[in-house]
Amino acid sequence: MKCPFCFNDDDKVVDSRISKDGRSTKRKRQCNSCGKKFTTLETIILSSPLIIKKDGRRESFDRQKLLSGLIKACEKRPVPYRNIEEIVQSVEKWIEETNLKEIKSEDVGKHVLGKLKNTDAISYVRFASVYLSFKDINELYENVSELIKKQS
Ligand SMILES: [Zn+2]
Repeated sequence: MKCPFCFNDDDKVVDSRISKDGRSTKRKRQCNSCGKKFTTLETIILSSPLIIKKDGRRESFDRQKLLSGLIKACEKRPVPYRNIEEIVQSVEKWIEETNLKEIKSEDVGKHVLGKLKNTDAISYVRFASVYLSFKDINELYENVSELIKKQS
């Protein structure tokens, strides 16, 4: 941090105070060049948005959870692990680029399905049945027949 008085960037922390909610820290610093004191504020910046689950609960995006969900959906299917990794990476990139604070888990699922659609139909249906939680067999059927139409 540059000293606001002499612009030297060599200082030492002389005091640290964590805010009541524990989300920020104030540090009193002393410039090693001119000796003047100044305060800096450190706060948490969430690097990824929160995922809103179907029941309204929020949780941070869990890469591992998505990866294992995909592995399960692609079990015994001719889908190379590299493709699964690529899907997860594309989701991460998309989440990063949306710039939203919160994203519906359903939208995450749809993004994955968009990728999975062109990879393997069986894996697609497996993943869809978990993520989109179809109301009944008819809804699942509609989704699948739409997919078949597109493929033929
Ligand atoms: Zn200074």
